[in-house]
Amino acid sequence: MPFRSTLALVAHDAKKDAMVAFAQRNEEKLGAFDLVATGTTGGRIADACPSLTVKRLKSGPLGGDQQLGALIAEGDLNGLFFFVDPLSPMPHDVDVKALMRLALVYDMPMALNLSTAEILLRSARLTGLKTSSETPEIGVLDT
Ligand code: PGA
Repeated sequence: MPFRSTLALVAHDAKKDAMVAFAQRNEEKLGAFDLVATGTTGGRIADACPSLTVKRLKSGPLGGDQQLGALIAEGDLNGLFFFVDPLSPMPHDVDVKALMRLALVYDMPMALNLSTAEILLRSARLTGLKTSSETPEIGVLDT
């Protein structure tokens, strides 16, 4: 069976419209991934992109970001697109920071804004990834 990468999609409230537009523009490309998202982001994408199946976790402030962190630690995530709002204080700021820290620990391809997500989505790096939860010092570098 061909390997399918799992891609996480998250957007803070001020960035959700941008995430939805990104998903609509790239619906076909995103269809090649197993998609997982925090609750509200996932609901918005699923409504806007009927062809996509999005596994919805809890909303970010209610633990969704931590659930994504657990997926990274278990080696079950291959990429993270997180459209961050840099201008608003967040009650779950520590969760967001923890998620990004684990993405760094495991050398996970991570886009924190639209421009980078557009580039990364076109990268073979994302589709050809292997995961390794046991060797974070090696990370997920492909050859
Ligand atoms: P949400 O969570 O998709 O449920 O809004 C995102 C976040 O704020 O981390």
